[in-house]
Amino acid sequence: MHELDTPTFRLAVAQFDQAAEAMGLDDNLRERLKLPQRSLVVSVPVRMDDGQVEVFTGYRVQHDSSRGPSKGGIRYHPNVNLGEVAALAMWMTWKCALADLPYGGAKGGVAVDPKALSRAELQRMTRRYAAELFPLLGPEKDVPAPDVGTDARVMAWIMDTYSQQVGYAVPGVVTGKPLSIGGSLGREEATGRGVVSVTLEALRHLKLDIRNTTVAIQGFGNVGSHTARIMHECGARVVAVSDVRGGLYKSTGLDIPELLSRTKMKGQPLQETKLGDRISNEELLQLDCTVLVPAALSEQITQHNAGKLRCRILAEGANGPTTLEADRIVEDKGIFIIPDILANSGGVIVSYFEWVQDAQRFFWNAADIQNRLCDLMTSAFHRTLEFSVAKRTSMRMAALMSGIDKVAQAHLHRGLYP
Ligand code: NAD
Repeated sequence: MHELDTPTFRLAVAQFDQAAEAMGLDDNLRERLKLPQRSLVVSVPVRMDDGQVEVFTGYRVQHDSSRGPSKGGIRYHPNVNLGEVAALAMWMTWKCALADLPYGGAKGGVAVDPKALSRAELQRMTRRYAAELFPLLGPEKDVPAPDVGTDARVMAWIMDTYSQQVGYAVPGVVTGKPLSIGGSLGREEATGRGVVSVTLEALRHLKLDIRNTTVAIQGFGNVGSHTARIMHECGARVVAVSDVRGGLYKSTGLDIPELLSRTKMKGQPLQETKLGDRISNEELLQLDCTVLVPAALSEQITQHNAGKLRCRILAEGANGPTTLEADRIVEDKGIFIIPDILANSGGVIVSYFEWVQDAQRFFWNAADIQNRLCDLMTSAFHRTLEFSVAKRTSMRMAALMSGIDKVAQAHLHRGLYP
């Protein structure tokens, strides 16, 4: 399918092929799992504030549902396309299986710059997109969550649009919602908290002391900012952070609470806070630091800059931040990689907790959520590490092979319909 043939989809398939080859995966299953189970492309006409109608393109891809409903975020970004969404959906399948969640993978998105829309336009676009997706969605079918460019507010509009169609409140149709309509404590910070959980395990494994740990983080949105805050609270020195416009650097450690207060509460642009020296995103990736966390978009670490990385641990907060060519270079440099499907699985893990709480109409406290998240992340980290040592393979291949194997088992046990 030529619409899928984009760099991100090629990366996801190349990773899958490598893992499938190494594990001797059945050829029929290989053909099936290389492609999505179901893809929907929709036109989303929206009346803009000036009275004109603009038509956006939206997508939802379900990669696999053999182990349960499909699960995955919704992205609003100008570069969203079918191939990228399909790649992200495939990674969600392996991620859910690796974390032992009873889900398959999905992803959705609209090709739009959400910052260019007013609040009312964003709401109308979200509601129309959700209405177009209606036949695919449902707590037992497919459950969206926030991703780049979307948040709890967008999830609330999707939940409301779905609920209006069926005639009663259905909190379990999305996760990452506000608490008032069935959201979970700890969901917003979950991906960042998960990145920190596995990074702490990696530091222990490498016998590195958190007090001597320096951290550089690319991306200061949901994942990057919570990772920065929690790493700082754990005693690490966060020396650099960045957003799309560039970054800030301070060798003695940035004042993260002050930075968060200026950027989140007061809306000051990151680089204008003057809390550190300005650096570019490219310079940030090449900083001498203990932990580098790409937490922005995919394909940031490429064959052109991989050789210049100077971190000890690469904790992939973003999905697909490292290209296949770069992966080999980073491995050869002896950098310890915590692959994306492991490192950023905290988000979908707490989404799962939210979905369970919605189904039970019974809500847990913050400590319950943090402890359960930490348990699941830590055990997934150690299972992956043991697999990688036992099979003499990289952490990325170990994580992919573990996830793919669980999905393959589900397909083989269920058999081929009809
Ligand atoms: P977000 O929209 O909240 O933040 C994205 C950040 O990246 C922003 O600070 C933005 O300025 C920055 N950015 C965008 N383009 C950039 C560029 N070219 N260079 C440098 N910085 C850039 O998004 P998010 O939810 O934090 O997601 C970030 C990554 O984490 C994505 O790859 C996403 O798929 C992944 N992820 C998110 C979650 C979640 O729960 N939100 C879960 C798992 C994985």
